[in-house]
Amino acid sequence: MLRYPLVDLSNSIRRYDELRDGLRGECGFTPRLPKAGETIHGHKFFIGFGGKGANQCIQAARLGAKVAMVSKVGKDSFGDNYIENFKNNGVSTEYVGQTDEASTGVAPITVNDEGQNAIVIIAGANLLLNSEDLEKASRVICCAKVVVCQLEIRPAITLEALKIAHKAGVKTIFNPAPAVADLDPEFYKESDVFCCNETEAEILTGIEVCNIEDAGKAGSILLEKGCGSVIITLGAEGSVLMSQGKRTPHYIPTKKVKAVDTTGAGDSFLGALAFYMAYYPCMDLEEMSRRACDIASVSVQSQGTQASYPHRAQLPQELF
Ligand code: ADP
Repeated sequence: MLRYPLVDLSNSIRRYDELRDGLRGECGFTPRLPKAGETIHGHKFFIGFGGKGANQCIQAARLGAKVAMVSKVGKDSFGDNYIENFKNNGVSTEYVGQTDEASTGVAPITVNDEGQNAIVIIAGANLLLNSEDLEKASRVICCAKVVVCQLEIRPAITLEALKIAHKAGVKTIFNPAPAVADLDPEFYKESDVFCCNETEAEILTGIEVCNIEDAGKAGSILLEKGCGSVIITLGAEGSVLMSQGKRTPHYIPTKKVKAVDTTGAGDSFLGALAFYMAYYPCMDLEEMSRRACDIASVSVQSQGTQASYPHRAQLPQELF
């Protein structure tokens, strides 16, 4: 039986805030945004792969992890391309279902010459991932070393996946993104590591996270809710870690680098963290977070999301 140390559940849409920064997805550039009923010529068009879980999977796979994706795409050319992209990156697609009941999740964006955009997010097939799909994937979920979940599928399905993993003794990483203020408290109890960015921490706790001290306060509230550890990423500042056994916030700085595109840095961090948790079980979470910060800081130094994620061979030996 194949064993995938790392299993990720996600979808293939790009979130608005990622798109706003990176302008990737199904993106058309036009002089101005068209009015209702109007047809205009644009300058250029491109398509980029995304989705938090997909990005996280690909970063982990590029570090050398054996990764399986559990998700659903449409029976359409976008779905075919997403599956091909996973395969090209060495991610198992055995549990990526294709449905003809909805399109692949997409986020078409139109950008005008002023850089303003209009975005339509269609979650599509992502919302059709269901308990039956999890049941089929339970073999791979329960055999994994780490399962990573986000909120880009139906929250009830994410929670169910976390529960299946947790019950089987598999380590869980939960990335509560896109964040919702009324997150079901059960999510905390099912998360060995609860990892979010500043914005998500603020939505979840009501505390504006502008610095390390704020992150400590927000992290304490999240930890109170029952997760094993909390990591709040702070962009160029790095991250803050706290755990049930070590409640004092621990600051982990990131390397000072010249950032050219920070889109998807959080997903690079999460993919790297999952890799370390799966392959270096004796390493402490602090060291894993420090290394994940280093890897994410490499990703911000080049353009693109998945395109910027480093491969193991490009990274210093001491990270492995
Ligand atoms: P998100 O993409 O979810 O908003 P962050 O912006 O917090 O996540 O970034 C995640 C990680 O990426 C950070 O903890 C840090 O290690 C790295 N990172 C992000 N921005 C920079 C930057 N400007 N310089 C160096 N590292 C960065």
